[in-house]
Amino acid sequence: MSLMYMGWCMAGWDVCIIDGGWLCARKRKNLDYYSCVLCQTALEETLPHLFFTCPFSLQCWQLLGIAWDFTLSTSEMIIRASQLFGSTIFREISILECSCIWTHRNSIIFYGRSLSLVRWRQSFKDEFALILHRAKPSLKQELETWFCNTF
Ligand SMILES: [Zn+2]
Repeated sequence: MSLMYMGWCMAGWDVCIIDGGWLCARKRKNLDYYSCVLCQTALEETLPHLFFTCPFSLQCWQLLGIAWDFTLSTSEMIIRASQLFGSTIFREISILECSCIWTHRNSIIFYGRSLSLVRWRQSFKDEFALILHRAKPSLKQELETWFCNTF
């Protein structure tokens, strides 16, 4: 899943909740298991749960300094989190985080890897290093500063 697609997923979160497209797409495949593999809650994996409310994902967001207020609407929640984050690189960090959650989930489902905050953290750092190579000069300094202060 590309980072651009992840961004699209985040932007389309309301649509996914309303029409249940995420769940319907998975159920048509008749999988045996629909629970979230990132937590022990046995909750059905939905887009909002996987990327935002899952306890594992919440830990990841917290480590990155991003907090979600689930009492707000989706758009208000994203705007509020961006304001609290206090940096112009919020979009880059949040999209990369969704990508890392997604790949961590897939590594468990498809490759039998274990759930690991340490492994997620290393994956985020590795992907972040790649982002730095392609970052616009106007964002690169801010990305590097954020990284040094966070990791
Ligand atoms: Zn979960």
